[in-house]
Amino acid sequence: MIDELLNPWIRDLVPYSSARSEFSGSAEIFLDANESWEGESPEINRYPDPFCRTLRMEIERAMGFPFNMTAIGNGSDEIIDLLIRMFACPGKDCIMVERPTYGTYSVFASVSGVDVVDVPLTASLDLDIDAMLSAIREKKPKIVFICSPNNPTGRVYPLSSILRVADANPGITVVDEAYADFADGFSSAVSAIEDNPRIAVLRTLSKAFGAAGARLGILISSPEVQKVFMKAKPPYNVPFPSQQAGIDALRNIGRVRERIKETRDRRTDLASFLSALPYTMEVFPSEANFMLFRVPDAAGLYSYLLDRGIVVRNRSSEPMLENTIRITIGSEEEMAKLKEALSEWNY
Ligand code: PMP
Repeated sequence: MIDELLNPWIRDLVPYSSARSEFSGSAEIFLDANESWEGESPEINRYPDPFCRTLRMEIERAMGFPFNMTAIGNGSDEIIDLLIRMFACPGKDCIMVERPTYGTYSVFASVSGVDVVDVPLTASLDLDIDAMLSAIREKKPKIVFICSPNNPTGRVYPLSSILRVADANPGITVVDEAYADFADGFSSAVSAIEDNPRIAVLRTLSKAFGAAGARLGILISSPEVQKVFMKAKPPYNVPFPSQQAGIDALRNIGRVRERIKETRDRRTDLASFLSALPYTMEVFPSEANFMLFRVPDAAGLYSYLLDRGIVVRNRSSEPMLENTIRITIGSEEEMAKLKEALSEWNY
């Protein structure tokens, strides 16, 4: 079933067989991969594990995603790029995204010469299911991307809505759950993969796990999609120090959980603070580690904060988000400085 959806050149691809993927036993002397016999630090002279096995075992332990359903990308961004290249034919196919959402789905599609069909969210920033279903029928996208919690709105979509789209979509549905760890009582689409192998879920260690610099994205999918992803990805896509950083973060799950709680408490606090500001026009309830709010002059607030040494994101160029600013939840000290600056703004 997945085979029929693939680009034909990917279906027929003979993957590169790296030295480290050909040999899987234990040995004392490795003279197979043309590495240096010595390096700057221990193990850095060796190529990293192409399968990220230890990291995936830790993911199963800490996050509960079965080992045989996961693969690791150089950030979820690499996974998004590869999925588009696996399934969508340049100059012919399209992908579908909700608008506004995370920007790289569209950018990677454009880099690959793949069209993008935008389906606007409803006025309440929910998925417009009817519009998505008719766009699927009409445009036949090879991949539908759904981001929940959505960036930049912070909105979680009900799993039932996501599955209505995924089940009606004959193509692949990618559910990007990058911010799921911050959401209250979150229902992941991972549970639906067994019944619908066209669903692929993205998670990342860049947000709640505090490892953005290591570039570790997780693809959770059916064995069919896993198999093709492993064929199409660069052989050594995740550096050894990054795999180790991810393993360390996952083994420190206690601190991750504490940090999630602190972030959520600060999010609640920021929401009430923003609501009480005299110039705030709207605060968007968020289930992520950021918060969007509307002011009379977002460009003015953006440059004022910049003058005070605080960088936020002006999201005003997005449809329906005129005059909105997105603020990432920072440390206690950072939030105190932000709040002080916000209360002193002469709007
Ligand atoms: N998905 C969403 C929704 C994001 O907001 C981001 C980063 N801002 C990513 C994916 C990229 O994550 P990664 O660092 O794993 O590439």
